[in-house]
Amino acid sequence: MNSYDLGPRATDTPVLLTLVIPVFNETEAIPFFLERVGAVFATQAGIELEFLFINDGSTDATLQTLLECQQRERRIRVLDLSRNFGKEAAMTAGLEEARGQLVVPIDVDLQDPPEVILEMIAKWREGYEVVLGRRLNRDSDSWAKRTSANWFYRLHNKIANPQLPENVGDFRLMDHCVVEALKELPESRRFMKGLFAWVGFRTAYVDYARPERVAGSTKFNGWRLWNFALEGVTSFSTDPLRVWTYLGSAVSLVSFLFAISIALKVLIKGVDVPGYASIIVSVTFLGGLQLMGIGILGEYLGRTYLEAKRRPVYVVRKNYTVTDQAEP
Ligand code: UDP
Ligand code: MG
Repeated sequence: MNSYDLGPRATDTPVLLTLVIPVFNETEAIPFFLERVGAVFATQAGIELEFLFINDGSTDATLQTLLECQQRERRIRVLDLSRNFGKEAAMTAGLEEARGQLVVPIDVDLQDPPEVILEMIAKWREGYEVVLGRRLNRDSDSWAKRTSANWFYRLHNKIANPQLPENVGDFRLMDHCVVEALKELPESRRFMKGLFAWVGFRTAYVDYARPERVAGSTKFNGWRLWNFALEGVTSFSTDPLRVWTYLGSAVSLVSFLFAISIALKVLIKGVDVPGYASIIVSVTFLGGLQLMGIGILGEYLGRTYLEAKRRPVYVVRKNYTVTDQAEP
C-alpha cells in the first residue's frame, strides 16, 4: 500500500508544484502570465513553484523574453525545442521534465485562470489524484469552434473508449503518480486529452469561467482542429475501420434483392433494357463508398506507419535551468 491510499493528505507539508507551459510565439502574453501567477502564489506558504516553459519552436522573441525573465525569476526553467512540434508534443516534453509532486499543464494566455489551481490543490489534499478544470462557458470561443467541439465530443464518446469528459481541456492538476503513468505510454502520436483519460485515477472537478486570451492570438485554426479531432478518434477507436464490414454487407444485401427483383421482372414481363440512370447512380454511389473506405483505411495505415518508425516525440535544443551551484 502506498501513501495515496491513505485518504486526505497533510496540509502542512510543503509541495513542489510544476506549471507546464507550452509556448509558441507568445512574447506578449508571458509578462502578464508571470505577474498574475506570481501574485496568486505569493501568499501561499507551503507551495513551492517551478515554471517549466516549453518553447515550441517560436519564431518571435519568446525565447529571449523567457531568458530575460529567468534572470529575475530563478524558478523559471525553459526547455527549448528544436522546432515547432505542436502543443501535444510540447506538453509531453514538459511532463517528462517536470520535477514537482504536483503538475499542472496551463496555457500562457491566462485562459486557464491560475487562481483555480488553489481550488485544485484543495481537492488534491482531500485525496484525489487528478483534478480537472471544467469550463462553465465557451463564450470566448467562436461559434464554429464551440459547435464543432460539441459534435466532436458526441461522436468521440459514442465510438471511443475511454470517454472524454466534456468541456475539459488540458488544464488539470495531476499528482506525480499520474505523470509517471503517462510517461509509461509509449505511443509517439500523442492525443493528450485521450491519454489523460486513459490512465484514469481518482478524479475530481473544479468549475471555472473561461476568459478571453490576454494577449496574442489563437494558434488553432479550423484545419488544425479538424486534424486534431481525427487524431483523437483514430487514437482511441477502431470503429471507423469496422463500420465498412457492416456497410458493405448492407449494400450487398440490397443489391442481391434488387437482382432478384430484376430476374422476376424479366421472367414475368419479358426482357427490358432501360436502366441507364440506375446503373450510373449505383456505380458512382459504390465508387464513392469504396473510396471513403480506402480513405479511412489510409488514415489508420498512415498512423501505424508513423508509429512504426519509433521517432522521438520531440527534440530538445537546450534546457535552461538555473542550478543551485550557480548561486554566488
Ligand atoms: N501552443 C504550443 N504549440 C503550438 C500551438 C500552441 O505550444 O503549436 C501553446 C500556446 O502557446 C498556448 C497553448 O498552447 O500557450 C494554447 O494555445 P492557444 O491559446 O492558441 O489555443 P486555444 O486556447 O485558442 O485553444
Ligand atoms: Mg488560448
